[in-house]
Amino acid sequence: MLEPALYVVATPIGNLMDMTPRAVEVLQQVELIAAEDTRHSARLMAHFGIDTRLVSVHEHNEHQRIETIVHQLQSGASVALISDAGTPLISDPGYVVVNGVRAQGFRVVPVPGCVAFIAALSAAGLPTDRFVFEGFLPHKTSARKQHMKSFVDEPRTIVFYESPHRILASLKDMEEVFGGERVVAVARELTKTYETIRSDRLSDLIRWMESDSNQQRGEFVVLVHGAILEGGPKLDAVALHTLDILLAELPASQAASLAAKITGLKKKVLYQAALDR
Ligand code: SAM
Repeated sequence: MLEPALYVVATPIGNLMDMTPRAVEVLQQVELIAAEDTRHSARLMAHFGIDTRLVSVHEHNEHQRIETIVHQLQSGASVALISDAGTPLISDPGYVVVNGVRAQGFRVVPVPGCVAFIAALSAAGLPTDRFVFEGFLPHKTSARKQHMKSFVDEPRTIVFYESPHRILASLKDMEEVFGGERVVAVARELTKTYETIRSDRLSDLIRWMESDSNQQRGEFVVLVHGAILEGGPKLDAVALHTLDILLAELPASQAASLAAKITGLKKKVLYQAALDR
């Protein structure tokens, strides 16, 4: 028997095997599931043999749904919140409900699982010690470029979500704003059949994507390497990765010296990068 609470349950981002046993158990045991799109989630429910009642909760009815959910919790029942894919509230509805339910003194319990951008960060080879998650970029190119400009000097890895309709246009805007030398990774169709993770200089990445229209299909996470050494020479992802490994074991000066021997880059540049990191 579940303790009465709102359970925020992550679901897979493609591969159904990523559904956790705990997620299945919670969805089976709650009295009500608030789902972003009930028809979409009905397929997931059928796959896992879950027959709990579903109600919709999306960006247009979140405020009204607080009342329904609180009413259930007051009667001692439990409720789960799910979105179409991944973790609710992450570029998905749910914030209003979670905030409202907490404000009324009820427990909110996370049941963690997939998040597309965490999966992308874990495999793309860009620095993950510090990053900023920006979610979706504006749809219109002028607003998009304006938004990107605020990250030109951002030293942390910058993470975006993007759709297949805008992926190429967004990468081209990035090239204008960040320059073609900036290392960028695209993580496409994660956990699905056509999963592709490619990290390269932006200009080469665009050329590669343009040459194969299949690479423009599906769902995307875009990771932009943080800015390095203002005005100075740019270090690529491999050089930084090498430096990071050495920095884990050695003081900055020794790490820079060894990294210079390995990469052929200037020690001064690597030392400054080591200090920045
Ligand atoms: N709540 C989700 C999460 O936890 O990641 C994100 C939902 S958001 C509406 C959908 C966006 O997430 C997609 O447009 C894409 O940018 C990203 N995304 C979701 N699934 C993905 C996948 N399998 N591969 C790559 N990106 C994915």
